[in-house]
Amino acid sequence: MSSSLPHLVPKRALLALSARWAAVGPVLALLGAAVLAAGPWLGLGLDAQRQIILVAVLALAVGGLNLSFGYAGELALGQVLMYATGAYVVGYLSTIGVTNVLVTLPAAGLAGLLVGVVSGAAGLRLGGWVLALFSLLLLDLIPRIVNLLHGRLGGVAGLSGISRPTLGGLPFDNPTFYTTAIIVAALWFAAMRNLVHSRQGTAFLVLKESSVLAKALGISTYRTKLRAYALGAVPAGLGGALYAYLDGYIAPSVFTFELGLVILAAAILGGARSVYGAVIGAALLQLGPRQLSLFDQYAEVAYGIVLVLGGVFLSTGAAGLGHRVFDRLLGRARGEEGIAPSRQESVDVPPLPGEPLVVDSVTVRFGGFTALEDVSLRAEPGTVTAIIGPNGSGKTTLLNVVSGLLKPRAGEVRVGGSPVSGSTGRAVRHGVARTFQTPLVPASLNVREVVASGRLGSGNVTLVETVLRLPRYRRVRRADLAAARRALAAVGLSRAAGLRADALPLGTRRLMEFARALAADPAVLLLDEVASGLDDTELAELTVLIRAVREAGATVVLVEHNFELVREIADHVIVLAEGHVISTGVPERVARDEDVVRRYLGRRSAEGGDALTGKGTP
Ligand code: ADP
Ligand code: MG
Repeated sequence: MSSSLPHLVPKRALLALSARWAAVGPVLALLGAAVLAAGPWLGLGLDAQRQIILVAVLALAVGGLNLSFGYAGELALGQVLMYATGAYVVGYLSTIGVTNVLVTLPAAGLAGLLVGVVSGAAGLRLGGWVLALFSLLLLDLIPRIVNLLHGRLGGVAGLSGISRPTLGGLPFDNPTFYTTAIIVAALWFAAMRNLVHSRQGTAFLVLKESSVLAKALGISTYRTKLRAYALGAVPAGLGGALYAYLDGYIAPSVFTFELGLVILAAAILGGARSVYGAVIGAALLQLGPRQLSLFDQYAEVAYGIVLVLGGVFLSTGAAGLGHRVFDRLLGRARGEEGIAPSRQESVDVPPLPGEPLVVDSVTVRFGGFTALEDVSLRAEPGTVTAIIGPNGSGKTTLLNVVSGLLKPRAGEVRVGGSPVSGSTGRAVRHGVARTFQTPLVPASLNVREVVASGRLGSGNVTLVETVLRLPRYRRVRRADLAAARRALAAVGLSRAAGLRADALPLGTRRLMEFARALAADPAVLLLDEVASGLDDTELAELTVLIRAVREAGATVVLVEHNFELVREIADHVIVLAEGHVISTGVPERVARDEDVVRRYLGRRSAEGGDALTGKGTP
């Protein structure tokens, strides 16, 4: 076997490490943190301790930003506000004699959380650039509030004499404070790691990719954003508290726009969509440029350059670079596995509790344009209903209405008798799952996680259960993975399970979306042109699979241009043209309908014979 790797690199060892990285990484990180925490007893000097505390403080703020920005995709400079909040909370508590670390640090974290919830609840409604600007304006509040309360918070001159925290009445000496800072940072990063490697983290990444996808999977977009943002505020508050204790002095001049830039630059440098990246980025900036006094003058310019360069060349930061190098070393080995779907291993579809789907006189308008007019259909469990019609006739729009993404102007959609129109949440709860004509694939998830994400809308696991990996978390996780494995086997993608999902070719992405919908154990399965881009073998397998889903009891609705496929598997066909139903019935009847032949099938076969023969679907 030829290998692109030099003999020096033990490929097998690398592969084994990569397969176990999810388990090995955190253990190594904890060991690293333990050694670091023991630093003072291993001869680490005071200066070095101070620098490492500053790295931990910055890393905490960056970790929070990674959660809200890197994972959930909302850019805000509010970290500085929460950081200042944590600092002033412990500062103020110290002036009134409260120094117990078990009180002050939780108070700082909670205060950060509170500021996160309040500013996030307002800002996240705005979203995007407006949120970024909004958070910038919030920074301006810091000196104002501090001045307003200058009797308590020290005003512009700052708050000095903040005493070190205590435990059991004993003040912390330097080594104890140092170790505490490391432990606090390690605890946060352990919690964050457990959070992002869970349904929560997947939900953040799905939301970052597409709010349409998030909604279609039953994720509440606003709540998810707010959760990421508010949780990201906790470490910022803790970091601020540690900072205040470090020198015993804080002033508004510390909590500036520049600090916001430092945090953002560190996030981007280390890799915003990463847990360890926050530590790497914080260490790079704190131990690098922030040491140079010359640098102060040009700091903002330099951070600006880091941001631009980072944005252009290093979209995944140092952490991503590490992954890429690793992947490159392993590239060949992974390439050998191939990413084309293999033969179906098994079409093992569990019983699906199908529900009747009723679309009742639905009308959809986009401005003055009528996309659907008085469209009705009824699809029964254990049947396949095909929706066909020319491009632009409203097929996808109809699926959008059924899945709750579009609220019809008139009419109603019912699943199992319950109205679901206009609510993706209700549609998902009633078992509606779908694929997209243009697949929506979150970046940086692997195929298995994408497929498992089909189940995000069901079976809630709380944050605490997730972070502490309690039994319910593990039970749900096992069920998610088992469903993903089964669904991947059904579409023939088992061997691609560990590959990055966004590296798959289009046809394969469609199959992955099919698997994602299947993993949700759907009552109503909506497939939007899932067969296009598949070759003959894949098409044959898809036919077997759709039949199996029908036999399992689901209500299948299929938008499809390939009439051969429709003829083979559809029990019932609905033909749309310009938003109207022009024909319905069994495939043979529809195929003989003169109107349908004239307006759709005939035209398509004249164009290249595709509709009737099933070749060359656009
Ligand atoms: P099909 O899936 O049958 O090809 P679609 O349902 O995607 O057609 O689109 C039907 C018509 O509605 C098209 O003319 C399309 O341009 C229009 N349309 C679809 N979605 C929107 C939207 N969000 N805003 C405005 N027009 C839309
Ligand atoms: Mg369409």
